[in-house]
Amino acid sequence: MPPQPPSSTEVVVIGGGVAGVSTAWYLDRLGVPVVLCEKGRIAGEQSSRNWGWIRKQGRDPAELPLIIQSLRFWAEIAAELPEDIGWTVGGVTYLVETDADAARYTAWLEHARAYQLDSRMLSVAETDALIPNLRAPHRGALHTPSDARAEPAKAVPAMARMLQASGVPVFESCAVRTIERAAGRVTGVVTEHGRIGCSTVVLAGGAWSRLMLEQQGFALPQLQVISSVQRTTAAPLIAETTVGSAAVSIRRRADGGYTLAKSGASRAELVPANLRHARPYLPVLQRDWRKLKFRLGKPFLDALLEKAWDGDTESPFERTRVLDPTPDHGLLDQVLASAKAAFPQLADVRSAERWAGAIDVLPDEIPVLGPVPGIDGLLVATGFSGHGFGIGPAAGYVTAQLAAGRTPAVDLGAFSAARFA
Ligand SMILES: Cc1cc2nc3c(=O)[nH]c(=O)nc-3n(C[C@H](O)[C@H](O)[C@H](O)COP(=O)(O)OP(=O)(O)OC[C@H]3O[C@@H](n4cnc5c(N)ncnc54)[C@H](O)[C@@H]3O)c2cc1C
Repeated sequence: MPPQPPSSTEVVVIGGGVAGVSTAWYLDRLGVPVVLCEKGRIAGEQSSRNWGWIRKQGRDPAELPLIIQSLRFWAEIAAELPEDIGWTVGGVTYLVETDADAARYTAWLEHARAYQLDSRMLSVAETDALIPNLRAPHRGALHTPSDARAEPAKAVPAMARMLQASGVPVFESCAVRTIERAAGRVTGVVTEHGRIGCSTVVLAGGAWSRLMLEQQGFALPQLQVISSVQRTTAAPLIAETTVGSAAVSIRRRADGGYTLAKSGASRAELVPANLRHARPYLPVLQRDWRKLKFRLGKPFLDALLEKAWDGDTESPFERTRVLDPTPDHGLLDQVLASAKAAFPQLADVRSAERWAGAIDVLPDEIPVLGPVPGIDGLLVATGFSGHGFGIGPAAGYVTAQLAAGRTPAVDLGAFSAARFA
């Protein structure tokens, strides 16, 4: 049976990732009628494909108030859900390998102090005590014991199931084709299964938000970068803390294996939008060009051939139900070898599964949260730039507050869409 959306509600949330599901979660708690539409499956894109790190450590200072609140929300959500989502406060640790690391982490600690975080630099001996048998060369580490982890493949789907159980309509395979407006105000959305009238729309479309906003006449300079991940077969516990180093980032999984990846090692799919929006990214490219690969392939041709669509015609959102990029196996082979060299406990593991995710990046690497200039009733929660899983519940909370006409708990000035207008 195809989904049968209701003819009207107060708020329609577009996107069933952590941002959209959290927004619906808190709207429901505020007593606001809400419908969530997901074009593919709940958390089918970034929100199930990420590393599962929920960290304050290393965050942009603008995000610290939100992530502090988000860690509290994750703890509450994990306690409320009837399913285990692997919520563990095991800490986050970044090895200090170079002078540049030491300088960067020491500078970031100033921000941590401003919020009385428990982050601190560890000596070599303290690092070795925290991560026994560590073979990676290091000069100590930056460590935040109160940071956490959870299982991305379980967490957001479990939240969506609980929402549904409490009566919130959550539709999968239900793409929103267009947002309708009259006299500059949102009046509803047209989904592939019919129209839903509403006064507010929250766009939490991850890597697709740019396309929807472009259709509405707002140019968000959001790009996609592809990042590869793998999980291993089960192995002995190395340490409760997740560990980041230049060669490998590693998180203990609830299934006894490890999620392994390499920070910053990404592939940018060159599509016309990337080229159009390249200019604001020049500082990021200058910093990261060694770690980034570029590819011009099928996505470029697809984007060139993309036809305009409206509420009556099939949209790009239906043509790709779930973005499922090909992982970089060469990179993941290297990451596995680096992990085995750094952690002898992994000597016998194999790669059990590999995948990739399309990260929605903005030039200043912090999200957009709030109203879209010139379109009354349209809110966005997007552009989390590779670290939105941790911050997702708090981002959803403040977006729900805005949609309910309340003052958000956190100052959202830094996240305004107007900064790109
Ligand atoms: C490899 C990788 C590792 C990461 N590691 C971490 C980490 O350790 N910690 C961390 O905090 N963050 C991490 N992130 C980032 C984090 O996963 C994302 O920032 C976060 O999941 C974004 O959530 P979202 O809801 O905005 O987007 P998504 O999870 O991408 O969800 C957007 C949803 O919107 C749907 N959609 C789009 N358009 C429409 C439409 N028109 N109609 C209906 N549905 C639509 C899509 O199908 C999609 O399901 C990582 C990301 C990746 C890819």
